[in-house]
Amino acid sequence: MIGLVVARALALRGCSDVLLIERGSLGAESSSAAAGMLAPQAEADRADHFFHLTCRSRDMYPAFAAALLEETGIDIELESTGTLYLAFTDEDTTELKQRYEWQNNAGLTLEMLDSDQAKRLEPAISENVCAALKFPLDMQVENRRLISALAAATKKLGVRLVTGTTVSALQADYRGVAGVETSGGFVSTNTVVVAGGAWTCSLGLTAISGRTSEKRFPNLGIEPVRGQMLCFEVNPQITRHVIYSQRGYIVPRRDGRLLAGSTTEQAGFDKRVTAEGVSSILSAALEISPQIGALPISASWAGLRPRAADGLPVLGQYAEIAGLFYATGHYRNGILLAPLTGELIAGAIVDQVTSTSLNLFSPNRFNHTGSSTFRVETAGGAHL
Ligand SMILES: Cc1cc2nc3c(=O)[nH]c(=O)nc-3n(C[C@H](O)[C@H](O)[C@H](O)COP(=O)(O)OP(=O)(O)OC[C@H]3O[C@@H](n4cnc5c(N)ncnc54)[C@H](O)[C@@H]3O)c2cc1C
Repeated sequence: MIGLVVARALALRGCSDVLLIERGSLGAESSSAAAGMLAPQAEADRADHFFHLTCRSRDMYPAFAAALLEETGIDIELESTGTLYLAFTDEDTTELKQRYEWQNNAGLTLEMLDSDQAKRLEPAISENVCAALKFPLDMQVENRRLISALAAATKKLGVRLVTGTTVSALQADYRGVAGVETSGGFVSTNTVVVAGGAWTCSLGLTAISGRTSEKRFPNLGIEPVRGQMLCFEVNPQITRHVIYSQRGYIVPRRDGRLLAGSTTEQAGFDKRVTAEGVSSILSAALEISPQIGALPISASWAGLRPRAADGLPVLGQYAEIAGLFYATGHYRNGILLAPLTGELIAGAIVDQVTSTSLNLFSPNRFNHTGSSTFRVETAGGAHL
């Protein structure tokens, strides 16, 4: 998805020769597995730079959804009902009170509810709820429809979308990026955006000139973090809001699905759903609403979140190799950060604007891996 959103933003800025190379099919990895929550406030405990980045991107969504509808006719089902965060224990309640305090003091929009108010708002939630926070500005989106809309929009704008093709290495010489090696042959270009998600660190970078030895590469340390999901069939829907607890969340979809997630696991590139994963998601979902116990499970899946060494996104130009940009490491917030990522990266490439956000989340914050070869880990899903 990040590749698509960057490709669209580039094409909208008038770039006529944008190529997106995807190993599998468009958006089929983490971006399809996601729950589509656009909820920067729900879990935030401080107003740091990352928090501001996520709020900025969330606030772009209404215009982004309207533009995609206009461009493609596809409704990405943006829901602005808000997020509800429930407390079931004293510890949960203390945490919610602290979150309420700092966000309220910072002038952010949120409401503290007692258990009766929460149950009136969402009658299907458990009798055991002690308190709740409501975040009226947080939203959700149907991420799979978002992928379809982005694919249709980029195609219409003239972006070449090449699927089933693997990028095996980036080539660079002393001037900077020279192209990418792919399973379909070499592609010459002087600009590459690496948007390979959890696989960002599984590709090679090769030198094509002896004069490259002084160049070094960032060690982003991107690792896959598995998240499992369950999907229930429910008709009519039992809740209106996205509902969180400390232990999980449920997400109602317009088409009669109810998603429940998730796990946070170091399991390498293994995308299997496990008994333990299902059990922990079920127990969190049933804590939120015991009514879920009667619902049929219609699907389960897992995806790999791309987590950089410091858990923050990696955005912008890499200083030591001209033409090399990163748009990766979005970890748990890639859907939320999609519209802003597209704007920031396309702005940096086309308008050569390096915003404060790009300075803060730059790939240049990581240490180098070495200087003698280009065998650094970079990404697939290159966008030229
Ligand atoms: C269970 C779960 C729930 C989540 N819920 C949310 C949520 O509610 N809200 C939110 O904002 N985020 C959520 N996320 C996180 C979000 O899904 C990710 O941050 C986001 O999808 C990352 O997008 P991406 O494009 O970087 O990665 P991906 O979607 O994984 O895309 C990377 C693409 O690169 C391709 N690729 C890799 N290597 C190569 C190569 N060598 N050559 C060619 N192509 C290559 C892959 O095939 C893949 O299609 C969730 C994630 C999971 C797993």
